Amino acid sequence: MLVENYNRVRREIDEACKRVGRDPKDVLLVAVSKTKPLSDIEELVAAGVNDFGENKVQELCQKYDEVSKPVNFHQIGHLQTNKVKQVIGKACLIHSVDSFHLAEKIEAEAAKKDIAVDVLLEVNVAEEESKFGLTTENVEELVRSIASELPHVKIQGLMTIAPFVADPEENRPVFRKLHQLLLDIKSKNIDNVNMDVLSMGMTNDYVVAVEEGSTIVRVGTAIFGERNYQV
Ligand SMILES: *Cc1c(COP(=O)(O)O)cnc(C)c1O
Repeated sequence: MLVENYNRVRREIDEACKRVGRDPKDVLLVAVSKTKPLSDIEELVAAGVNDFGENKVQELCQKYDEVSKPVNFHQIGHLQTNKVKQVIGKACLIHSVDSFHLAEKIEAEAAKKDIAVDVLLEVNVAEEESKFGLTTENVEELVRSIASELPHVKIQGLMTIAPFVADPEENRPVFRKLHQLLLDIKSKNIDNVNMDVLSMGMTNDYVVAVEEGSTIVRVGTAIFGERNYQV
């Protein structure tokens, strides 16, 4: 059942790529397993799925330690500075860096372990008050300060959580704006910065996000079903 769901989402991504002339290999599907049991992850791992997304550090670390073979866990949710120490070395990519302060904390822990940590900067493109993330105007400045001052923090691109909308077409301008921002910053060839990863698109809008250039979609509900936050 979960494998079928995963394959269906993957197929829709591939079809969206073909419609706009993109190579399906350029889009990574991250299965967002937050709140779901390890057994769900194992079902997908057995079918060859390799990338999972979690938004709580404790849950990511526990699943990382318990999963039967090594897979990639993405830290997609807001990261508190006091949780950085635990997640460094376990998350393959931190999607949600939104302040210099947080990046400094990542730098300190990464330096201690002598590793480089791949991150994305989270942008609140639609400027929703309820959401974390930088405003589009502040992204380049943060990219420049991280790149020049924090050698263990490797910026790979940008991420956004688009608004919850009834019609995914409403988010097309949001995705287009983030893609353009990525290209603008990339064109400046800032040392120590890659601007190749665009993490955007969730269950309700991943097809539109792929059409607009997403390279990582984070899909939970369409694969695992509704989440129950009461448990
Ligand atoms: C939960 C979550 C997702 C997945 O959301 P769905 O709508 O279930 O696909 C994607 N990204 C982030 C940051 C999330 O917290």
